[in-house]
Amino acid sequence: MSAPVIRKASGPDSLVISDDCNHPANVICELCRLFFDKDWVTGTGGGMSIRQDNLVYLAPSGVQKERMKPENMFVMDLNTRDYLKTPDTYKPSACTPLFLSIYNAADAGACIHTHSQSAVMVSLLYDKEFRISNIEQIKAVPRITEAGYLDNTDELVIPIIENTLQEEDLTPYLAKTLMEYPAASAVIVRRHGIFVWGANIWKAKIINEAIDYLLELAVKMRSFGINTTGPLGIEKESPYHECSHHH
Ligand SMILES: [Zn+2]
Repeated sequence: MSAPVIRKASGPDSLVISDDCNHPANVICELCRLFFDKDWVTGTGGGMSIRQDNLVYLAPSGVQKERMKPENMFVMDLNTRDYLKTPDTYKPSACTPLFLSIYNAADAGACIHTHSQSAVMVSLLYDKEFRISNIEQIKAVPRITEAGYLDNTDELVIPIIENTLQEEDLTPYLAKTLMEYPAASAVIVRRHGIFVWGANIWKAKIINEAIDYLLELAVKMRSFGINTTGPLGIEKESPYHECSHHH
C-alpha cells in the first residue's frame, strides 16, 4: 500500500465543523479529552479514528490530546486513500496506516490507540498472548467471528506484538496478527500500548474500557501470585489468600 498523498487544498470545513455533538470530529475531541484525563493518551501519544461509510476521520499528530479541535482533524476517503480535508499546520498521525489496516481487516467503525500503563505492564508479564478468564467484565467483549459477546467463563485472548522504532513500522506486524486472530478486538504492542476497535466509536470505547479494566486487574492478580486463566478457586493457592481452615 502506498503512502497517502496530502493534497494542497485543505478541503471544505463542512467535513469537520458541525453543531451535531455526534459528528465524528466532535466525538474524537470529546474522547481525546476524556482519555487524557484517564492517563491513556498523555502528551501527544495515542490516537483515535472514526469511520463513517467511506470517510475516515483521523486525529492529527502533534496536538496535545486535551486541546484537540474539530478543525484539526484529517478526513480521508477510505477507497482512494486521498485526504478530503487536511488541517493547516498539523501532520497526519503516525497511527494512520495502522488504523487503515484495522479498517481493512476487521469490519471496524472506529479505532482507539492508547499508551495505557496497564497494557504496557501486561506486555512485560505475558509473552505472545494475554489471556484471562472467569471475570465478569469479559462479558463486554464481542465474539466478532460469531454473534454476541463472550461469557464471563470464556477466555479473552489478546495477541501481543513487538514494538518498532517508528509507529508506522508496526503496520505489517499488526496486519499479520489481524489475519491470525480474526476474533480479536485488540492488539497489545510490547512496551508501547494497545490498539482497540469496534463496530462504532461508542462500542470501541466500551470495549477499550472493559479491556483496560481487565489488563489492570490482571497486573494486580499477578502481583498477588494469582494466575489469570486458572479455574475458579485458584486464588486459594495464592500465599496472600486468607483461609479460615489453616492454623
Ligand atoms: Zn503509540
